[in-house]
Amino acid sequence: MDCPRCQGLMIEIDLREVSTRDRVLGWRCLLCGETTDSGIEANRMSHGQPSQNRARVPGAPTAKSWKDSVR
Ligand SMILES: [Zn+2]
Repeated sequence: MDCPRCQGLMIEIDLREVSTRDRVLGWRCLLCGETTDSGIEANRMSHGQPSQNRARVPGAPTAKSWKDSVR
């Protein structure tokens, strides 16, 4: 299994599903730490790419730049 983010080597890990208390087999990337399991993969397949990116927009004002502009 290759990491979906960096194509690094992923190792199998045991995840504990809190809601069901089932043991779920997952994978963790040795390079970037990405963790995934069969449920997450199924969600990705059914939803596709997220339509809205919540990441901060580059160039958007931050608390620091706002303080600097006030001064
Ligand atoms: Zn990775």
